[in-house]
Amino acid sequence: MNGDIKCKHIMIKNWRLVMDGRMHRFPLRILGTPHISEAGCRQILSPRIQAATLMAQHRTQTTKAVIFDLGGVVVPSPLAAFLEYERKLGLPKGSISRTVVESGDSGAWNRLERGELTLSEFADKFTEDVSARAGKRADMSGLLTYIGNGLTTPHQSIIDAVKSLRIEGLKTALLTNNWAMEGEGPNRIMDRDLFDVIVESSKVGTRKPERRIYEICLQQLDVKPEESVFLDDLGVNLKAAKAMGIRTIKVTDPDKAVLDLEREVGGLCLRRFVDGTTTVPEHLRIPMDRLETFFNQKLNLHSTEPPVLRCFQHGQSNPTYYVYYAGQHLVLRKKPPGKLLPSAHAVEREFKVMNAVGQFGVPIPKMYGLCEDSSVIGTPFYIMEYCKGRIFKSLHLPGMTYQERRDIYFAMADTLCKIHQVDISKAGLDDYGKKGGYLKRNIVRWSKQYEASKTEEIEAMNKLMDWLPKHLPEREAVTIAHGDFRLDNLIFHPTKPEVIGVLDWELSTIGDPITDLCTCLLNYYMPANFPMITSFQNMDVASLGIPSVQEFMDIYCQRMGIPSIPSWDFYVAFALFRFAAIIQGVYKRAISGQGSAPNSKLVGEFVLCIICICTLGQGSAPNSKLVGEFAKLMAEEGWKIASNSNLRPTVSMAGGGIQLGNTGGKRNYSTSSEGAVNQMTVSPKGLSPRAKNLYDKVKDFIEKEIKPAESEVMEFYRQEQNCWKVCPTVNRLKEKAKAAGLWNLFLPKEADPEMKLGAGLTNLEYAFMCEEMGKVPLSSEIFNCQAPDTGNMEVLVRYGSEQQKRQWLTPLLNGEMKSCFGMTEPKVASSDATNIESSITRERDHYVINGHKWWTSGALHPNCKICIFMGKTDKSAATHRQQSMILVPMDAPGVKIVRPLSVFGYLDNPAGHAEVIFENVKVPLDNMLLGEGRGFEIAQGRLGPGRIHHCMRLIGNTERAMELMLERTQNRVAFGKPLAAQGTIQQDVAKSRVEIEQTRLLVLKAAHMMDNYGNKVAAPEIAMIKVAAPNMALRVIDRAIQAHGGGGLSEDFILAGMFSWARVLRLADGPDEVHLRSISRQEYRKYNLSKL
Ligand SMILES: Cc1cc2nc3c(=O)[nH]c(=O)nc-3n(C[C@H](O)[C@H](O)[C@H](O)COP(=O)(O)OP(=O)(O)OC[C@H]3O[C@@H](n4cnc5c(N)ncnc54)[C@H](O)[C@@H]3O)c2cc1C
Repeated sequence: MNGDIKCKHIMIKNWRLVMDGRMHRFPLRILGTPHISEAGCRQILSPRIQAATLMAQHRTQTTKAVIFDLGGVVVPSPLAAFLEYERKLGLPKGSISRTVVESGDSGAWNRLERGELTLSEFADKFTEDVSARAGKRADMSGLLTYIGNGLTTPHQSIIDAVKSLRIEGLKTALLTNNWAMEGEGPNRIMDRDLFDVIVESSKVGTRKPERRIYEICLQQLDVKPEESVFLDDLGVNLKAAKAMGIRTIKVTDPDKAVLDLEREVGGLCLRRFVDGTTTVPEHLRIPMDRLETFFNQKLNLHSTEPPVLRCFQHGQSNPTYYVYYAGQHLVLRKKPPGKLLPSAHAVEREFKVMNAVGQFGVPIPKMYGLCEDSSVIGTPFYIMEYCKGRIFKSLHLPGMTYQERRDIYFAMADTLCKIHQVDISKAGLDDYGKKGGYLKRNIVRWSKQYEASKTEEIEAMNKLMDWLPKHLPEREAVTIAHGDFRLDNLIFHPTKPEVIGVLDWELSTIGDPITDLCTCLLNYYMPANFPMITSFQNMDVASLGIPSVQEFMDIYCQRMGIPSIPSWDFYVAFALFRFAAIIQGVYKRAISGQGSAPNSKLVGEFVLCIICICTLGQGSAPNSKLVGEFAKLMAEEGWKIASNSNLRPTVSMAGGGIQLGNTGGKRNYSTSSEGAVNQMTVSPKGLSPRAKNLYDKVKDFIEKEIKPAESEVMEFYRQEQNCWKVCPTVNRLKEKAKAAGLWNLFLPKEADPEMKLGAGLTNLEYAFMCEEMGKVPLSSEIFNCQAPDTGNMEVLVRYGSEQQKRQWLTPLLNGEMKSCFGMTEPKVASSDATNIESSITRERDHYVINGHKWWTSGALHPNCKICIFMGKTDKSAATHRQQSMILVPMDAPGVKIVRPLSVFGYLDNPAGHAEVIFENVKVPLDNMLLGEGRGFEIAQGRLGPGRIHHCMRLIGNTERAMELMLERTQNRVAFGKPLAAQGTIQQDVAKSRVEIEQTRLLVLKAAHMMDNYGNKVAAPEIAMIKVAAPNMALRVIDRAIQAHGGGGLSEDFILAGMFSWARVLRLADGPDEVHLRSISRQEYRKYNLSKL
């Protein structure tokens, strides 16, 4: 017995599975054994697949390929274009087609189609021919372009038929008489990949109806004439094909031709193609008349056309159909026919849970109705909406950008949280499962299953069966658990990173939510180097933008309001154990090939399992031996995790925020500096050599170059005539800093991983440099690290189009221009940006902007050229989808600076804070950032780093204040001793040091969190420092001012300016109250969840 299949009368020579809309062929050996019997084959394959295979075999004997003509079949006939062109030139009707026919093979048209004439040769010759026949000059030089312009939209019914044929395993060809147009041809009209073979007359030098061109086509298809069907609108072409033995269909109406083709290919359904669907196999057919009656009576849907039904093949053991009826795209899901275990295939449960959770914000398709009456179509079924969207089968999301992948994964995390946040009682799901004991029950269940199916001793399984019950988590949360929550069970919006439907609720119950979290992260733990599996263990997913396990978990925890996930190792080990047990069970059934009627549940699991394996993989053909090894490998991976785990809770990094989780788990993504992954550096000494070197240079430059120029610059701006000018010293220092490479230090590594634009520092590394800049506030401008340019540049890096980047980002990065950010409005409370009243109205090829803004920092700078403007594009949209951000050039007509605003008398010139009116300002459509309605999204991305920089600089401000205070109090004598000798002054110094140190640690922690877990996860810490840092700075600077006496309030010292700025920061990045509100909400959420 060798590894080949020994089923003799095999209806199953090759096992086919359709995924990604492509056909995958697996030798039956995939089933994992060379000893497989025919009975075994029959038993393990679901009836659906058996029937589909039978059908496929029948078809292969009759039709193997379908050949389509282009013009007149796939796209409209060019004949109409001939007539119009004639009319345009005032030629008698039929002049062109008559010339084509009558000139025959030696005529210009036929020679063009055989590729014998160039386009210009054809134009001359054909003009001659047609003119001669028409008896007047008829310029034919524009004819081909004219025809080409009309051939743009293919017939959808034909495209659907082509796709349907391919998914059924038939080959397709395009056989077209055409002419050579550079870079165009069929490409321009449709996706070439739709066809296995494309034969173009102009390329092969022969044209229809010449026999040779059909031979070439059949040869390339590798089929005999009688195994093919040919569709054309011209009788002469069909006649020639028929003479060779090819079956033919004359196309007059494409929709009708598809019906004819369906008959010709043995009743396959070729209409209304939907990805992943095929013809309904015989045994799964549904009485259409009864279904139609159901639609009419129960759903009030009516049509003169009967429903079109197609069968989904992806991952369900419950037959699922796509239904098109009365203009509606629907999905019907039913129990399989035959005898079933009582608990299996409970579509009623699915309907119930989907209906219930849908009302609590979980995205699910619209549910139309459940029919429990088996007499209607044989089994209970339900109808839901067919969601048109994207399903991602490849977990590493090929073809997407870094940010798109991140967004997709974060949307997945969001959706999982929505499921787990459903209130079971309010949703009426109290009886949907047992509350509690889920993990224990499942360990027992899968242990028994494994014991009953083991074919050899898998040591790792035995160890896991011993280890898991002993390490059950102390507390188990109770929520709705989806049971199979994976990326490919989610339908995403066609263009946005938004889940619009969660599918496959078959395994859902009341259970432990962390098992769902673990299921969707299982790829990170799958055995590496296993050919069929996409294991993230050996993939640099971080560089792709896919969040690490830790990032994903942190997002999950944050959204769920839980501090961390204790016992994560347990959950991973459990998930791998469960998977191994399922595979082992299936393997056993496969090789035993015994038993009476197939156990449909197990068959379902098998299909699920194989599909699981294949969807986790990248479509490479599996190898039987490896599949046989699979259960063992999974168990071994599980045991590896379990045996290396200490499962002790880790030190909480987050006072009030997120617990970083189990130390047992390793992070495989971090923007931390090298050598410092997961360790928070609390001093510049702990920086990586590269960052430390840069830090030293920054410090040195500030000390030697900027600080000495500080008073000169301040003096320059004290002169009224210089108020809104750029101080030449500043420009000189900027050039010097740039030349020294001390430039654009702010741009976080995460936004610029290849360090093309900035210094590639992490937020933490930058924090130390920012602190130095805070000591001499002028510095941030010198290093091109000044707000609001920093935030604006980051917006452009993250969300700008290539053109926007070229036009605005590059000069900003070069320090050649300045920018401002216009959100706040005098008439509304702008701390709540949903209040913003400015409008951005689309009018033909531009937007019109109207709004009144104030506190627009930077707008008065002589080099300020661009404003990122926030306004409403759609006041009727959802609250957070009304706003957009758009780029408005400051020199556009209608932009009027009303006045500069001062803060406690400080103008903060030359950048200033302006009141600005935007009146009917027109900007091109291309100036929109990211898209209409995405303003809030951008605001979220902008606020993290921009805000933290202020806090970092505030630490520097306070260090400078301390320095001044220490110096002044030792040199000033009052009541017979230096001020420094006064106890109150000493207390002020000591208190200030305590507060600075506390705040610095919190700021560094926020930076560390941003680097390691992302801005969203770090949001609570960012909010905390925004409150802590300015308030601390106000206290410390105030003490320093007090110690300076009257001088402290004057412009002679920098203290008054720093105090005013710290006060600004209790408002400018959002008032304290708003941040405190979000911190407290997070606290309540966490507490309430911990009580679950
Ligand atoms: C110097 C400076 C520079 C600025 N630069 C810019 C800039 O470049 N671009 C820009 O768009 N904006 C800028 N701003 C504006 C700043 O962002 C806003 O002032 C801030 O968001 C508050 O909005 P508001 O002034 O409309 O106050 P309001 O929204 O009217 O709030 C007033 C007060 O109401 C209270 N309050 C608000 N919400 C709550 C709550 N939830 N709970 C309890 N109390 C609450 C707070 O005490 C708050 O201070 C700047 C402001 C200053 C002072």
